[in-house]
Amino acid sequence: MGSMTGRAGVVTGAASGIGRATAIRAAQEGARVLVADLESARVGGEETVKIIRDAGGEADFQACDVSRAADHEALVAGVLDRFGSLDFAHNNAGIPGGGRLLADVEDEDFDRVIAVNLRGVFLGMKHQIRQMLRGGGGSIVNTASNAGLRGVKRLGPYTAAKHGLVGLTKNAAVEYAEDHIRVNAVAPGTIMTGFARGATPERLAQIMKPQAMQRIGEAEEVAAAVVWLLSDDASFVTGVTLPVDAGSVAGW
Ligand code: NAD
Repeated sequence: MGSMTGRAGVVTGAASGIGRATAIRAAQEGARVLVADLESARVGGEETVKIIRDAGGEADFQACDVSRAADHEALVAGVLDRFGSLDFAHNNAGIPGGGRLLADVEDEDFDRVIAVNLRGVFLGMKHQIRQMLRGGGGSIVNTASNAGLRGVKRLGPYTAAKHGLVGLTKNAAVEYAEDHIRVNAVAPGTIMTGFARGATPERLAQIMKPQAMQRIGEAEEVAAAVVWLLSDDASFVTGVTLPVDAGSVAGW
């Protein structure tokens, strides 16, 4: 028996990186997983599904854009159609945003980052919680960032979105605790995914500077924390944002 045996749920942004690693880890622990990502990321999403199925797990892909409410409704329906219940959700899809000091940020860039990284998580939780209330409970984990717990130069819109996500996580946790719904977040440091691969060596060194451990993390190291929070092993934990960041917010 794995820690997620009998559970069904959705992981957004699961065509790559942290989302893929979480979908695989949850499936290894016995979960049935709806792998969700943009239509443009279908190839990666189907690859995640194949990895899970080849290992004997159950998974399927559904395209979504997390900034659209209708897509979240469809994801909840998709999990119910395929697996019969919605027991967990990992709201993980996100986009980088930044590179500029606040006074130089274009208004449209700010709106775009907020639409995906904050509004996308709001919409996800809204529709997931509606179903979890009907189903008698569940567990949600949102992907924040260490930029959700402190300022990071040249990441203003991203930092704002991730701080908002941390606040929403706390609010959902206190609002639905008595309904047997736990809501937590993880706050990764620098992780070797598409995010980090796109950065120049100079930028990576700058981002890693606050970390106590001077190495880039692996997506699997975040997935382990996410699946622990999703599972009953964390049954007394709700409303926390767990840094998975090599000591980045601990101080430097
Ligand atoms: P990634 O680029 O590998 O994964 C992000 C995924 O989200 C992609 O598959 C992408 O297609 C998907 N996505 C983007 N916009 C979407 C949308 N509108 N609807 C649905 N899917 C969408 O990068 P990752 O590092 O795995 O990122 C996952 C999460 O981790 C993000 O929320 C990111 O902010 C967060 N994070 C990453 C790091 C890091 O260093 N990699 C650090 C802190 C936080």
